[in-house]
Amino acid sequence: MECREAERNVQKYIQGKLSDRECAAFIDHIRHCSSCYDELETYFTIDYALRPGEEDTASKSFDMKRVIEANLADTEDKLRRARTAGRFMDVFMLVAEAGLVLTALCKFLPDTMSVVLARAAEFLAKYI
Ligand SMILES: [Zn+2]
Repeated sequence: MECREAERNVQKYIQGKLSDRECAAFIDHIRHCSSCYDELETYFTIDYALRPGEEDTASKSFDMKRVIEANLADTEDKLRRARTAGRFMDVFMLVAEAGLVLTALCKFLPDTMSVVLARAAEFLAKYI
């Protein structure tokens, strides 16, 4: 991601309007570009100061580096969890599709498939 694009995405990041992919690219850029990090810090500080919260303003932390770092770490954590869930869904869909194919094969080739299924069951029992 170029600086110009990162600068355009600062507000969207703060508002949580970036897609997971954009967000990951944005954070990656911010982590390596002090100029864009400063830009984020400026807008984040304004947003943070004006954001209504349950806590009163006096007790809000104004150690902005720490607040932003916590926000970035939290967002990275969410992105990681979304990626893991996505991978799980891919595997789940693959298993579901394999199940459908096996079901169809069992219907049309019952004798061959009973042997194949027994082998598959042995394989699964060994590795799962
Ligand atoms: Zn930059």
